[in-house]
Order: sequence, then structure tokens, then C-alpha cells
Amino acid sequence: KTIVSNEEMVEKDRRLLWHHMTPYQENSGAMIVDKAKGAWIEDLDGNRFLDAMAGLWCVNAGYGRTELAEAAYEQLKKMPFYPLTQSHLPAIRLADQLNKWLGEEYRFSFSNSGSEANETAFKIARQYHYQNGDQGRYKVISRYRAYHGTTLGALSATGQPQRKYRYEPLVPGFTHVTAPDSYRVPEEHTEESWSKHCANEIEQTIRWERPETVAAVIMEPIITGGGVLMPHPSYLKEVEIICKKYGVLLIIDEVICGFGRTGKPFTFQHYDISPDIVTMAKGITSAYLPLSATAMKPYLFEVFKETGENDHFRHVNTFGGHPAACEVAIKNLEIMEKESLVEQSNVQGTKLRTQLEPLLRHPLVGDIRQKGLLLGIELVEDKKTKVPAAPEVIADLMKRCKQKGLIVGKNSDTVSGYQNVIALSPPLSITDEDVNFIA
Ligand code: PLP
Repeated sequence: KTIVSNEEMVEKDRRLLWHHMTPYQENSGAMIVDKAKGAWIEDLDGNRFLDAMAGLWCVNAGYGRTELAEAAYEQLKKMPFYPLTQSHLPAIRLADQLNKWLGEEYRFSFSNSGSEANETAFKIARQYHYQNGDQGRYKVISRYRAYHGTTLGALSATGQPQRKYRYEPLVPGFTHVTAPDSYRVPEEHTEESWSKHCANEIEQTIRWERPETVAAVIMEPIITGGGVLMPHPSYLKEVEIICKKYGVLLIIDEVICGFGRTGKPFTFQHYDISPDIVTMAKGITSAYLPLSATAMKPYLFEVFKETGENDHFRHVNTFGGHPAACEVAIKNLEIMEKESLVEQSNVQGTKLRTQLEPLLRHPLVGDIRQKGLLLGIELVEDKKTKVPAAPEVIADLMKRCKQKGLIVGKNSDTVSGYQNVIALSPPLSITDEDVNFIA
């Protein structure tokens, strides 16, 4: 057996891998993560870090859950794969379980990633209208600052220009509106009136675009990667009312917000709405295996009931709903229920927020936003002007956190390209000790 040294592996990493979202000069600085348990990861040299980002906002149940590995192993031995053009028990059981979490009956189409879940949602929204004889409805309205994925359709829905302009032209038919940012409310508005103004912008856009061309509105209930933007409590309800008024489907992207991240099974449940479509990924398996789902209200399926050329949704995804991934998801939800991780998200999130609150006295800390274990700390140069803190300040802060053994995220992606919001989105299983460590 050849023993490969760590140095050799580092050399191969630098030479062979093209790391996601990593500048050329930093491609050779990647940390090689080798082990993980609880909220902690360990690199090849044995350095430990508290992962306050749960990977990429996704390891909700925490690392080191051997039951999840066993669930995959048992399923792979029994029946490793069959496509969902037919069916298998893990997918059926998972759909049933997800409906309990959603609190209403949905029908599921499974894929492997958040991007694909959103692509499926766009296609079904278009065909739903097509089946209804509304063949001109193809446009999708989303919001500036939102992120909906990396594939061309999902990227078209994304509202962060810096992620898009090198890959244009993207998919036609995607248009964007303002997302309410409660920290940057224009002077003439209150937070509530600004939120209403932004909801009205959706109505105006539907009218300008002509309702008979608009298929859907997509949004995250809380914008995560675009700066952790908490909406005013009335905003989503207003959006839902507008969508209904114009026969436009409401797609809620719960890829990050779902599975307890903000202290409810799904974040839209804070806001008394009932979306036509809900997309989910990441926390569905706590990232132990790739899986995503597009949950659709039963009436979306019913429009296919006539026989003939338009009797089905012409969409297939080979690995979507892989049996091992479904088994992992079922076990993951079981663990989350057994350990009350959704409630824990509230408990630990509130503790973390309370401990971080004194930071607001620091000249750089403009705002702290929190719901469950989703937190954003907005750093500014000057609290009056709210000019975002410079990238060097953020880079320095992240470096110093890492030196102290803490991994945090950064985001925001305003038009200026500044990423001045520090994100915290740790595993929901974090302990009191972990919370104290982060704070
Ligand atoms: N939607 C949201 C809100 C996301 O944050 C992400 C990824 O971070 C996606 C969709 C895309 O998910 P994936 O990277 O699994 O394709």
C-alpha cells in the first residue's frame, strides 16, 4: 500500500482542483477538511474550527451522525438505485414526512441541488399556465440581492449582477424588483411603509409586464446569501395577495431557510402564507448526501389530467430522489424531531443574539439581525451614513476569527459588490459551549 503524505495531497489539491468561488491567487490556500463532529471541523494538520456556517448553511443536524451514514449504507445494500419514472419506498416515505413538516399536502418532484429544485419550479410554473391555456405566461419576477442558484435559469432569477454579467445573455423572461432591507429604509419611509412599497413594486411590475405574461414570483422568505434581510412581518402576506390577484404562482425558496434554520420547520410558516411551490435542498439531508425537492400544491398536478400531447411534465432527473439520499433525509428529519432541533434553533439563536448584542456598541457594527440560528451582522464604516465596511476590514475580521478557531461567512452582494454582512448559520445542534465560543 502506498502511503501518500499530506504534503503530496496538498500539492495535488493546488494543481488539480478548481475551487468554487475562489480567486486565482487564493486557489492554493484552501483548507483541506478531513474530519468533523458536532459543530467542529478538523483540517489535515489537526487544526480544529467551530463551523459557524454549517458548511454552506446546510449541515443542520451537525457533523458525525453515524445513523445517517448507516441509513445510506443499508439502502445501498438493499436497492441502490431506481429512477423516479417509477417509484421506491424511500421517496414515498420521505414525501409523506415532508408534508408533515410543511403542514399541508404537497406533491414532490425530487432533484439533487437547490438550483435544480428552482429550475423544476420555473418549468412547472410555465407549463401549469400552458396547460390552462395561458400560454403567454412565462415571466418570473424575483428580487435584486436574491440568490437562487448557479445553473442558467436559477442564475437568471438571481438578483446579484456580479454573479451574472460574465455569463450573459442568460435565460429571457426574468425580471427583478427591490427587496425590502429593514436596515436601509429610505428616509421618507417607516419600515412598514417601505415594506409595503416594495410589495407594491411587485404589483406594478406585473402590470407593466402585463399580467398575462407573468408565470411566477420567486423569493426566499428571508434573503440569506444577499445579506440576511429580515422582511417586515406583513411583507410576504402582501406578496401572496398580489400573486393571487393576478393569477401568478408564488414560489418560496427554502433552500437555506428550511429545516429549522429560523426556528420553524420552514421559514414561510412565520408569515401566514401558503405558497403554490416550495423548493428545498441543503438541510433536507443535513448535506450528508445531495438531495432537493420541489413541493407543488396538488392543483398544479391536476392541470395534466386530460389525455393527449400535454398529459405530462416533460422533466426527468436521473439521480433526483436517489434512494440512499431519501433514506438519509428521512433519518435526518427523525433526528431533528427527536432532538427538537427546530425549537433548539430558537433557543440557541436567542442566546447567541443576546451574547452578541453588546457588539452594537462597536463603531463598525451597524446592525445585528437574527431569526433562529440565522444571523447577520452588518458592518459599516460609519453608522450614520451606513457606508459598507471595506472588503479589507471584512477579510481581516474573517482571518482573525479563523485564527481563533471560528469559521464565519460573509455576504450581502449589494450593487457595489461589498460583502459587508458577517453571516452565522451554525448547525442547529450547537451546544451552550459552542454558543459561548462563537460569541
Ligand atoms: N437557493 C438559495 C436560496 C441558495 O442559497 C442556494 C445555494 O446556496 C441555492 C438556491 C442553490 O442551491 P445549490 O447550490 O444546491 O444548487
